[in-house]
Amino acid sequence: MEDQHTGQRQLFESQPAWIEDDIRQGTVATVVLPDGVDKPLDYLVPERLVAEVEPGRRVIVPLGRANRERLAYCVAVRHSDLPGTPLKEVAGVEDPAPLLSPRMLELTKWMSQRWLARWGEVLEAVLPAGVRLSRGVRTDPLLIASGTAPKRRLTAAQGAVLEAAATPATAAELAARAQCGRAVVSRLVTLGLLADAGTRPRESLRAAARVPAPHLRPQALSLAQSAALEAILQPLRQSRHETVLLFGVTGSGKTEVYLQAVEETLAQGRQAIVLVPEISLTPQTCDRFRSRFGSVAVLHSHLTPAERHAEWREIASGRVGVVVGARSAIFAPTPRLGLIVIDEEHESSFKQATAPRYHARDVAEWIARSAGVPLVLGSATPSLESFARCQAGEWRMCRLPERVGGSQLPAVITVDLRDPKSRSRGAISPRLAAGIRWALDSGGQVMLLLNRRGFATHIQCRACGHAARCGQCDLSLTLHQPGNRGICHGCGLVSRLPHDCPDCKAPQLAQRGTGTQKLEEQVRGLFPAARVARMDTDTMRARGSHERTLDAFRARELEILVGTQMIAKGLDFPAVMLVGVVNADAALHLADFRAAERTCQLVTQVAGRSGRGSAGGRVVVQTSTPEHPAIQSAGRHDYESFVRHELPLRRALLYPPFGSIVRIVVRAAVEDRAAAWAGTLVERLREAAKRAGLGNNDGFRVLGPAPAPVARLRDRFRWHLQVHGTDGTRLRALVVAATAGLKTPDDVAWIVDVDPVEML
Ligand code: ADP
Ligand code: ZN
Repeated sequence: MEDQHTGQRQLFESQPAWIEDDIRQGTVATVVLPDGVDKPLDYLVPERLVAEVEPGRRVIVPLGRANRERLAYCVAVRHSDLPGTPLKEVAGVEDPAPLLSPRMLELTKWMSQRWLARWGEVLEAVLPAGVRLSRGVRTDPLLIASGTAPKRRLTAAQGAVLEAAATPATAAELAARAQCGRAVVSRLVTLGLLADAGTRPRESLRAAARVPAPHLRPQALSLAQSAALEAILQPLRQSRHETVLLFGVTGSGKTEVYLQAVEETLAQGRQAIVLVPEISLTPQTCDRFRSRFGSVAVLHSHLTPAERHAEWREIASGRVGVVVGARSAIFAPTPRLGLIVIDEEHESSFKQATAPRYHARDVAEWIARSAGVPLVLGSATPSLESFARCQAGEWRMCRLPERVGGSQLPAVITVDLRDPKSRSRGAISPRLAAGIRWALDSGGQVMLLLNRRGFATHIQCRACGHAARCGQCDLSLTLHQPGNRGICHGCGLVSRLPHDCPDCKAPQLAQRGTGTQKLEEQVRGLFPAARVARMDTDTMRARGSHERTLDAFRARELEILVGTQMIAKGLDFPAVMLVGVVNADAALHLADFRAAERTCQLVTQVAGRSGRGSAGGRVVVQTSTPEHPAIQSAGRHDYESFVRHELPLRRALLYPPFGSIVRIVVRAAVEDRAAAWAGTLVERLREAAKRAGLGNNDGFRVLGPAPAPVARLRDRFRWHLQVHGTDGTRLRALVVAATAGLKTPDDVAWIVDVDPVEML
């Protein structure tokens, strides 16, 4: 925009003087629409609105031939010469104050380029729905028609109730404050815009989030902890940006380092953002922040839009010092930001799976750099991306190689499932059973990891080998009990299981593969005296169920916890003496170049849950590929040896972190249409590469088109392709050039995923 502006001025200055009378000056607002038009548009700001139109507020603008009114984000305002063709005028101003700071506007623009997303889409994504609600002064047929909650226009009364809900109140109080009937409040609850909080004060919700166990500040930090803290405090005190990676084994005291760095940040009168992979999976981490600091905003997914809006305002006012939350908490509007922490930085949940497909780690780095504050990353198993940045000298690595208090990492026993002696009738080998018995006899607790939920992972015909599949996905059905239901883990569709093979009609359908349900049943059979609970997304649906199960486990009301990767994260239970990994190879052979990295991380992480107490502990890992470097390294608690093995492979293949990948997934109801469009895209990418002079030397290559590993999902066929290159910026420019002005056929949809973490 700026360039265009100077360009016009130069043009004007070179004109003969007599033209001057014809040139008018005025205030021009550049706006970005949340959807539809991709390009920023210029509008004239009428005199009556000049005082109100400013970057970061939303405005109402006429669009198209019909001049339909649309909400749009004002991203820039300038006073300048007006172009020859008259501009349309801004019709109104939506927000009484900017929703986005200049830095956020700059960030969202950068994000749109970094992940090839539309700017408007990014703007919508960084603002919580509750903040984006319009006050409903005007009606807009287009917006009502689109019908989704964030865009829904509210009636004046509904708007007033949401305003009133910013502070705790009962439904009756809310209605009274907003001077409306109770029905308005109930309607908002139905719409999901207000929690039962309408009928329950917010504070009681907070209290219901249970009383945290007090975590006292330790008397003294270990040497490694002190060094790590110093590495953070240096840039913090000098108000400069630096990224520090804490590479510390589980239980090495990383969280304690974050806590003390945050303490110093608050002492400076500044704010800290702490990102965790998923709030419900990291209750202990959240509790420690809550119990150490007074003003903590925990942004979890159960907040209603109104509650989230209220937290947002508290943060923006500067009254809240610490923000703890998952991925999107990075966008919290902290006016006095001093520190950003990302715990478990290797977790793939920091990458958003829907557009805009950003990675919170990269966003955090941008913000920390722009604000001149340190970024702290921590993990027992850092991503190879982060390792490579440290090796390149861009980031600083601090190692915390030992557990605090000198507790030893548990011995790991590997059980080779290929060996007939290690087989048993169920999923638990004799060695694993012996380990469990040892732990129980010693008065300890047990955690068993199996990363597949359901009862049997597939249902197969003994006669012809046919496996029961989802009617609308290319995925086998998982048997769930009770009720003998076949559930598709791709789309969630529940089918009744056939009696006979749908293919050869033989009445010989067999259950194959063990899921957590069956494992739980087997555990109960083998250890009838033990109290067992299962944690997976099936048992953890209800709000609070996660905390309840973990509380029961901590209180020793349970001996054995069976679960998916949910139990692998951040839990600190001193009485756990045995961790069993039932099938370490489950994810090793997926069509994903990160499969080995993920497996090593998962096994290392869950192994670290064992032996935290004085009684010590053991780990039993069941695998069919005990020689695999990912399993070997995890078995020695030596993640770094895996990194030393894996990084050269990635370098040789120019895979991340040594190259960038753009993945395109095409979907269509008719397979040929998906294949044809993927083919068109590949052709255009190759041509564009030729024009841009990108070739082998740049690591440039196109893979595909090919059917995606999940070739059909929700009745849509999926084809994909990948472009690789060493220079991510050039690669993205290439994709933009190749697809600019491309008209997508109506029966095809496609998405672009820059630096994907999920390849299925
Ligand atoms: P990590 O985040 O690396 O898993 P934590 O910070 O959770 O490690 O520390 C593990 C346990 O040790 C926690 O119970 C914590 O309170 C305790 N702890 C951490 N640092 C110290 C220390 N310097 N002295 C004593 N106990 C500590
Ligand atoms: Zn399905």
